[in-house]
This record gives sequence, C-alpha cells and structure tokens, in this order.
Amino acid sequence: MPCFMILSALFAPLIDLFFPLFCVSCKRYGDVLCNTCVTSFTLDAPKIVLNPAPSLHACIIAARYERTPVSAALRALKYEGVTLLVPCLANALRRSLDAFPQSSNIVVPVPLHWRKKALRGFNQSSLIAQSLAKTSSLQVSELLVRTRYTPSQTRLKRAKRLKNMTAAFRCTQKSPRDVLLLDDVTTTFATLEDAARALKAAGARRVTALVVAHSRD
Ligand SMILES: [Zn+2]
Repeated sequence: MPCFMILSALFAPLIDLFFPLFCVSCKRYGDVLCNTCVTSFTLDAPKIVLNPAPSLHACIIAARYERTPVSAALRALKYEGVTLLVPCLANALRRSLDAFPQSSNIVVPVPLHWRKKALRGFNQSSLIAQSLAKTSSLQVSELLVRTRYTPSQTRLKRAKRLKNMTAAFRCTQKSPRDVLLLDDVTTTFATLEDAARALKAAGARRVTALVVAHSRD
C-alpha cells in the first residue's frame, strides 16, 4: 500500500474529528451532500429548451434551482468555497448529456470578471467543466473573458439583469464551430446569450448551453 494511503487511513478519524462533514442542504452529519439530498437533487429529469435566446441553439438543464439541495449546493460552492461539491454538480451535468447527447466535445465555461474571480478564488463554472472533462471525452477551452464587472445578478430585477449583460464578454481566440457553453445557473438566459454572441462573433456556428440549474427568478 502506498505511504500516502496508509497515512490517510491513519489520520482519517482525526480529520473527521476536527473537520466533520455536514450536508450543505439538510445539515446531517457524514457527507458534504448526503445520499438523500443527492437523490432529491436529481429527482427531476434533465430538460432541454430549444432556442431559449437568439444565439443559443438549445439549453440543457440538469436541475431546478428551486429544489433545496440544488440551491444549497450552488450557494455553498460559490459563497462558502465548498469545492468538494464540484464532482456532484458535474455528475448532474454528465447525466444530462447522457439524456441529450451532443456533437460537440468542446466545453467553454462562462468566465467571471478577473476582479470577482480574485475575490472568490475560483470560477465555479471552470471547476465544474474540468470535473466533467475528467470522466468524459470533453475538452475544456477557456476561450472567453469577461470584460465588464457587473453587480451580482441575483440582486437585480429581471429587466435590469437583461440590460446589465449587454456585451460583457469577448473571445480571446477563434472559436470552434460547435461548442458547449457551461454555466452553474441561469434565470433569463441573458448571460448565456451574451457569451454565445461573443463565441459566434469569433467563429462559432452552434452554441449549446449546459447549466446545472434553471431558476424561475
Ligand atoms: Zn442532506
């Protein structure tokens, strides 16, 4: 048995004692998202919305944001940095792609503005894309940059949110013709539409969005 495995087996009870894991949704002890909450997370079948916005061919949605474990997991990842949740969120996307197979093998995460990324320390969409790529034939391509620093979308009303997203992205290089655009959550498809428009201006012909959750508002 390798040395690190022996050490990890020896120290696991201590790590568990000092850093116990609690479910981010129901607070039950044992795991970062317990089995009951994982089951509830994926209780709804994945959905596909065709042409949700002018530049989007379709949007594949893994879960409803209103389902408690979904919103709790996304909030814990983004605002508390619980990156242990990333594989679970990537799994939900993998199941969605199994339900709606796509021709593209290029996945482009929606970027954060560098200021927001510096504050948060990571881009949740990039982490989810990388986790998804580890167990599939997908390749992550960080083609997009966010050029405008925008206030948190959740604090803005729908009309302002749509206006807020005008031309906030730019492509750093030529885009492949067929791409998957990954984001953690969408409400109005406005961010996705804006990012898709930038990809199309850089050569993409078909942009299919892939999101963990759709929120009604
Ligand atoms: Zn739970």
